[in-house]
Amino acid sequence: MHHSIMTVKGEILSDELGLCHSHEHLFIAEGQSAKINKALRIDDYNKTLEEVLLFKKIGGQSIVDAQPVGCGRMADLLYKVSEETDINIIASTGFHKLIFYPENHWIHSMSEEQLMELFASELQVGMYINSDERRYERIISRAGIIKTAVDTEGMTKEYRKLFRAAAKASLLTGAPIMSHSETRTGIEQVKFLSEQGIAPESMIICHIDRSIEDFTYQLEVAKTGVYMELDTIGRLKYHSDEDEVKLILKLIEAGFEDKILIGLDVTRERLKSYGGEIGLDYIKESFIPLMHKHGITDTWIRKFIIDNPAKAFTKKI
Ligand SMILES: [Zn+2]
Repeated sequence: MHHSIMTVKGEILSDELGLCHSHEHLFIAEGQSAKINKALRIDDYNKTLEEVLLFKKIGGQSIVDAQPVGCGRMADLLYKVSEETDINIIASTGFHKLIFYPENHWIHSMSEEQLMELFASELQVGMYINSDERRYERIISRAGIIKTAVDTEGMTKEYRKLFRAAAKASLLTGAPIMSHSETRTGIEQVKFLSEQGIAPESMIICHIDRSIEDFTYQLEVAKTGVYMELDTIGRLKYHSDEDEVKLILKLIEAGFEDKILIGLDVTRERLKSYGGEIGLDYIKESFIPLMHKHGITDTWIRKFIIDNPAKAFTKKI
């Protein structure tokens, strides 16, 4: 079996991934997301290009774009910016929280089978452009992961249908599932996906570090064997970066350093090229030095930014 990862420019070997941010948003089209939060519109090609070039300048090689099909994902621009910068981009099919879709969206009306076929075909054939004007056009770039999400109410009937479709597409294609979680919903999601036959090494649970006062939750998720994404870095409205580092130290101490992925989960408000203050150089320039300061060695850091993403985003068949 050869180990490969699907990027928008085609398959690469897992060890070619290099320095990877495991959860970002390079583009989000104008739409329902921006109606809810105006920072959820990232649609200026040249600004995103500038940001990705900044990432490249600090040694970045790969970015996971977490915006799924039909939810403002701009597949054609992901390909274009990857082509122009030579940065690997792993795109998402799947679905986001239902608040990010208008009431009449196909996400609500499609059957489980139809959703499964849509996700699988985006992983195997190519992604839909899915803008208002070019609704049914698709490109040859394929998605590399299946995004899933729940809201605070957890696994309702509609979410269970969506999760089953995602699980079937994952079993068919080998693509990993990357799931948005709310405070403490991670366990329920892992349990449901396990029941559908998904192995822990094919699951990535995002935002595991939003609320970190109580370590028992993170420990419970870690013990299931899934990959955990720490993406609340430089988001000081939640907690300080020092507290984030303390969480990482606890996870290392508990033996889970091979399961940690990191990213910034950027929005328009944080990207430097859009006038924000964080930027895609933040992990390299600020967060890694802070980890060093607290005794986290380069061997561990290499795992979080290179080795663990290389395993987590590898196709499992
Ligand atoms: Zn996100």
